[in-house]
Amino acid sequence: MTESEAGLHPVKIADVKVILTAPNGIRLVVVKVLTSEPGLYGLGCATFTQRPLAVATAIEKYLKPFVIGRDVDRIEDIFQAAYVSSYWRSGPVLNNALSGIDQALWDIKGKRANMPVYQLLGGKCREAVPVYVHASGQDFKEVEEKARAFMEQGFRYIRCQVNIPGLTTYGSKGGKVIPALDHSQTRTWEPTPYVRTIPKLFEHLRVTLGDDVELLHDVHERIPPIQGVWLAKALEPYRLFFLEDLFAPEDVEYFRMVRQQTATPLAMGELFVNSSEYVPLIKDRLIDFIRVHISDIGGFTMARKLAAFCEFMGVRTAWHGPGDVSPVGHAANMHLDLAIPNFGIQELALFPEETKAVFPGCPQVHDGCMWANDKPGWGIDIDEKLAAEFPFPEDKYGGAWPEIRRLDGTVIKP
Ligand code: MG
Repeated sequence: MTESEAGLHPVKIADVKVILTAPNGIRLVVVKVLTSEPGLYGLGCATFTQRPLAVATAIEKYLKPFVIGRDVDRIEDIFQAAYVSSYWRSGPVLNNALSGIDQALWDIKGKRANMPVYQLLGGKCREAVPVYVHASGQDFKEVEEKARAFMEQGFRYIRCQVNIPGLTTYGSKGGKVIPALDHSQTRTWEPTPYVRTIPKLFEHLRVTLGDDVELLHDVHERIPPIQGVWLAKALEPYRLFFLEDLFAPEDVEYFRMVRQQTATPLAMGELFVNSSEYVPLIKDRLIDFIRVHISDIGGFTMARKLAAFCEFMGVRTAWHGPGDVSPVGHAANMHLDLAIPNFGIQELALFPEETKAVFPGCPQVHDGCMWANDKPGWGIDIDEKLAAEFPFPEDKYGGAWPEIRRLDGTVIKP
């Protein structure tokens, strides 16, 4: 039976546009797939904010000619064909490019069905999506006050990061440039003062904020693995909701070690791009939350399969959701969050007004949750004229992550 016999008239991919925009100074890459049906198009997130032009080139030069003329309804087939069309596959550039097309096709599928995408997955498992927000400060008191302000706004999950004096601590401002190295982006970092400080931070937060709030922390792969093992054990009394990226992707074998020593819940994976990286950790139940960045693993088609696999293994989801996921990507996160039983939590960088203006239909945030509208597809659009008013900021390094170095000058992971 053909699609038209099944009740759908055939629609082809007519064109693919890459939209580069930087509202609030954050470089975003959004893909618009246009179709042979006038007015019918879809949007997808392809944001790799540190290398956005590489993604744009991968789409313009390779994926666009590859998908034009194909049937918009064959999402899985297009995903599989595009994924292997480069032979050498996966990696953040090609996966983000593929995600832009893939998510746009899901948006089109929802619009053709006249349903929000979460309906295509079986419907809502929950009314809205609980989110966690970021409280960062120069000292314990400032972190506490910011967390308390979020609690008063109805947020129940808060990631807490504190500055370590003299160092550039992930998630907080501060640190200093190394004068000996003539590189404007170089920042300093030492792991030992950090691992000594963090258990004291969470002791302070539990004493002052009480037990009703869920607290999270991101190590951001910055410390030697054995110090990570020590830190996870030292934090156990403070009952974190999760401890994130305790190890770098290169050191994931340490999860076997830490797992036997502490019940601190572990979240991992925003840097993963390949199923070979995350499947072993999930299969062996070595982590509690999968943290992948959905566009970095290839898009929605891949993420919904990953969510189902995690469900069987007792692993919950916590999709990466910083400011450098476009609102289209946040909407995709949210639709998946709504429809899966093993949802854990959703990270959210609160959308600035400028960003909301560029993306009409941007998910609403209130009562500690992200709320979907009931429009077909992702329920979100882009104002291309306004988007063009926010070009990428000029930067010698094109948005690269700043260098982080030990006090002796050694480069470490960011
Ligand atoms: Mg993180």
